[in-house]
Amino acid sequence: MSLEPEMMRSLVKAAAEHVIASAAELTALDQAIGDGDHGANMKRGFEAVLGKLDAIAALPPGEALKTIGKTLVMTVGGASGPLYGSFFLAAGDALSNKQLPADLADIFGSGVSAVSTRGRSKAGEKTMLALFPVLETLQSEAIGPELIARVRTTAHEAAARTAPMQATKGRASYLGARSIGHVDPGARSSCVLVHAVCDTLEERS
Ligand code: ADP
Ligand code: MG
Repeated sequence: MSLEPEMMRSLVKAAAEHVIASAAELTALDQAIGDGDHGANMKRGFEAVLGKLDAIAALPPGEALKTIGKTLVMTVGGASGPLYGSFFLAAGDALSNKQLPADLADIFGSGVSAVSTRGRSKAGEKTMLALFPVLETLQSEAIGPELIARVRTTAHEAAARTAPMQATKGRASYLGARSIGHVDPGARSSCVLVHAVCDTLEERS
């Protein structure tokens, strides 16, 4: 896997298009346990990213991720904007100093740590960090077709596992036990992003 401009363009385009296509689903999830804006927030942010697609793809990969992060911070809003922004800013910083594909888990892990610090949240809670098992999967085996398939399944299962959890962070936590029984909107949008990357890597390999 290399992050030539053409590959970066495909990955960013797929991520943005998947999120935009999932807006109604993300809104419905946030209507159940939040304020119903997660789909609109993410759609607005990733439309802004799509608008800069050519410029982003032309940047060195680390700078490209940081530009995505800054764009999301400025456009998504809500709790999720600064959190997704932190992920891409930290992952971009890490990518500037590391090598792909060898350091993929470290780079992804830097993003996860930044979300955890910013959100004061940790693995196992009903938030976008429910996708922590994706990091463990990346750490556990070498990059290849089997890893991509396992990451896809792990992301799906991790998002689904948020349904029986009670939220302890963010707006959903105000609902107490009434947050139980619904998938977390941010866990679902994280899963959509991970699946977009997996699809693109499979199509282009
Ligand atoms: P808001 O909650 O401000 O309306 P969004 O609806 O866009 O923002 O995003 C909600 C999502 O943000 C939640 O489903 C959850 O995944 C994520 N989230 C909220 N607070 C935190 C936190 N402290 N740590 C990690 N993720 C969080
Ligand atoms: Mg919301």
